[in-house]
Amino acid sequence: MNLAIPRGIIYHSVLDDLKWLVTSLVAKLDDQPVVAAFETRFAQLLGRKHCVAFPFARTAIYYALKRQHFPHGSEIIMPPISIKGILDVVLALGLVPVFVDIDKDTLCFDEQLLEKALNANTRAVIITYLFGMVPDVEKLVAVCRTRGVFVIEDFSQCLNGQFADRKIGSFGEVGVYSASSIKTLDTYGGGLLVCDDEALAEALRADQAQLAPPVRTQLWQKIVTDLIRNVATTRLVFHFGVFPLLGLLAKLKPNSVLKHTGDRDKAMIDELPGEWFCAYTALQARVGLEGLVSLEALDQERLHNVAEIKAAAPSVDFPRGSEGGKPIYWQLLAYFADPAATQQRWHGKKIDTATTSLLKISALPAYPYHGDTPNADKLYSNSLFIPCFPGLNAADRQRIIQVLNDVG
Ligand SMILES: *Cc1c(COP(=O)(O)O)cnc(C)c1O
Repeated sequence: MNLAIPRGIIYHSVLDDLKWLVTSLVAKLDDQPVVAAFETRFAQLLGRKHCVAFPFARTAIYYALKRQHFPHGSEIIMPPISIKGILDVVLALGLVPVFVDIDKDTLCFDEQLLEKALNANTRAVIITYLFGMVPDVEKLVAVCRTRGVFVIEDFSQCLNGQFADRKIGSFGEVGVYSASSIKTLDTYGGGLLVCDDEALAEALRADQAQLAPPVRTQLWQKIVTDLIRNVATTRLVFHFGVFPLLGLLAKLKPNSVLKHTGDRDKAMIDELPGEWFCAYTALQARVGLEGLVSLEALDQERLHNVAEIKAAAPSVDFPRGSEGGKPIYWQLLAYFADPAATQQRWHGKKIDTATTSLLKISALPAYPYHGDTPNADKLYSNSLFIPCFPGLNAADRQRIIQVLNDVG
């Protein structure tokens, strides 16, 4: 029988989620040496000198920017597609977001547009690697360096990606990785900041030490969320439960199904929530230390799937990446002329897909800062996920290839 194929997975097993859920009932959450041990291992993985763990990537970016003491009204160059929390922390610091469009093949800043956007008031650039694609980051960083702007790499979707045989996340002044649900190293949330500058690391450790104590119920919620998503994407549960439900939703609300993820909160916030400033826990660090053991094998399996699918579907419009870049393909996606129709046809072949669930933060109606970003618009509206996760079997891959070649 052909079991329905979900668009993605959670990168640990249901049993792991259950184990950590039980562990979280009693485990010591504020065991700093355990957090430090994970930080050291993560810094080593990236080839960086320091790692400081925060509860969210947005929190790490908040402190990295705050420590620069930029004048009020300084411009921060941001990706048009990301999570809203990063926009919120930039605004909370009194800084001005400026959105630069992406290149359709690297899904990262267009180099010429970036150069044009830089001016005397630009103080930082947040280079974001969408879906695990890799641009010519050396060129992007060089453009920033000539203007003396601070470079933050958000490599939440590109852990273990490389450019010129160097890890993504090791090019800017700081790199930030979100170890949140559905990412390739998921520690039930977390924002891991890496850098080489000793003084900056010291300052950020002081900020880390000032965070509020972790809240056990918040950790439970995150583990339960992963557990539910994990069970829902288990092949049998997905086939008999979730997939038919998605089909039904598509019939009932034909215009809202492309994202299938529900509307994320798009309102502006007055104050950053306290939850963003509660310390990263020792339990999350333990999850991270275990996750690091299998990370590379899972990367390899996904990359193998991607290579097979791409090679067998030459007419599909995949983003082409950059010369010298080794993308990690957190998600494989391709552009389609009529994504709604394509999604429907794939559904008929029992393959789940969707457009990105990230927000187009350059066009949020509730926010006064907007950008003209046509390539990001196209990525946002016209690209679909093609399942490539570890765990797909040969028959699954053949079905995906056939659908790509038959019905586009
Ligand atoms: C998942 C993700 C994040 C998540 O950030 P948190 O603040 O940890 O929730 C940030 N940036 C990108 C690009 C992401 O994909």
